[in-house]
Amino acid sequence: MNYLSTRGDATPRKFCDILLEGLAPDGGLYLPEHYPRIDAARLAALRRIHREQGYAALAFEILSLYIDDIPAADLRAICERTYTAEVFGTPEIVPLTQLQEGFYLEALSNGPTLAFKDMAMQLLGQLFEYELGRRGTQLNILGATSGDTGSAAEYAMRGKRGVRVFMLSPHGRMSTFQQAQMFSLQDENIHNIAIEGVFDDCQDIVKAVSNDLAFKRRYQIGTVNSINWARLLAQVVYYFAGYFQATTADDERVSFTVPSGNFGNVCAGHVARMMGLPIAQLVVATNENDVLDEFFRTGVYRVRGSADTHETSSPSMDISKASNFERFVFDLLGRDAAACRALFDDALRTQGRFDLSGDARFAQAAARYGFVSGTSTHADRLATIRDVHARHGVTIDTHTADGVKVAREHLQPGVPMIVLETALPIKFAATIEEALGHPPERPVKFDGIEALPRRVRVLPADAARVKALIAEECD
Ligand SMILES: *Cc1c(COP(=O)(O)O)cnc(C)c1O
Repeated sequence: MNYLSTRGDATPRKFCDILLEGLAPDGGLYLPEHYPRIDAARLAALRRIHREQGYAALAFEILSLYIDDIPAADLRAICERTYTAEVFGTPEIVPLTQLQEGFYLEALSNGPTLAFKDMAMQLLGQLFEYELGRRGTQLNILGATSGDTGSAAEYAMRGKRGVRVFMLSPHGRMSTFQQAQMFSLQDENIHNIAIEGVFDDCQDIVKAVSNDLAFKRRYQIGTVNSINWARLLAQVVYYFAGYFQATTADDERVSFTVPSGNFGNVCAGHVARMMGLPIAQLVVATNENDVLDEFFRTGVYRVRGSADTHETSSPSMDISKASNFERFVFDLLGRDAAACRALFDDALRTQGRFDLSGDARFAQAAARYGFVSGTSTHADRLATIRDVHARHGVTIDTHTADGVKVAREHLQPGVPMIVLETALPIKFAATIEEALGHPPERPVKFDGIEALPRRVRVLPADAARVKALIAEECD
């Protein structure tokens, strides 16, 4: 399998060539040159493998279709080390909970940081260690976080050979629980840096360091952001696992609702559907930051400015643009890279928007690709958390609540609906308390986490100081 860029660079690249990369050199995103088709017989075989051998074996089968530059035995061992009951809490890894007939939650957030990003990041940690070891090189991951992504990256990379993590966060601005989660890590290769500033200052520092090409090369600076193809690929697996759990025969169809921000999660659903998994609808749920809902309703994709980007109670979906969206648009345009470049490079850069409403292919977003959408507000979130708690005795987090709210608007008779649960309620305790009048349950392994010793350095918002710290740790 070779990979190409959505903007036309067709230099043949293998999986491990793009594993440690972000954007393609032409600014596009990497995609496989085709989606391997799963026919009915193969789907039945995968169902059997999942039932008899479990999630890790299913992951190996799916990943093998896209990775032909890691020996099969090694890839299987990587999957088996990643998807264990020990790390993900249950032998099923992504168990379904039925709320009512034909309506399910798929638990993706029982990993170490209690959010679905662990599903992909844990695999990435194993793949990085493997590939860096094979090359005999090192990688220094530099990132900025206001919560979920940074902690998932740290928990995936802790103790991994060849990798160091330098994670910037705004000093004193993350929740106590999030700070405790990150700063209690004592691993030598994990460096927490609290910046005296806001999240944007952290991001600016990451950009400034990455733009210093000599420094970047010398210290082998990399990132683990959501456009990484390996992360997306890891997420394809749980669409299959959800499907197998909700159905008994391979001619049944299901729909998925996905609480969305950067369009990474639901793009993995799109890939699964393109492979032939019988998905009726892919329902994109947004919060007040409704860039994606606006597109699927109107055909207009309009990037928001920072004044138009709302801070909400489902903060991991607070986006101004959806960084993985270009992958779907590339497919929607019949994989016409020149057309894709015209939209994402020219139109977005000069006008901040593009409009496909008059393009016949836009109609195919729903009819041919199954995409529909909806949006949810703070009031919807509170009402949905209350309602699910009262009717089913289940406490859901704020992001999952956005999903449940929008899923209910898109039910089709006879088609089971699976809502992806993307975080556990304890991460957003204040809003749960606002909805229910009491705080959510805390998993026992997090008891007393705030009292653990902390490993964090506080620095002023100054790229030079961050560079000096990286140099000191590496030289
Ligand atoms: C990252 C995240 C999302 C959004 O996922 P995308 O892949 O960016 O669409 C939703 N919910 C939670 C809890 C997250 O951490």
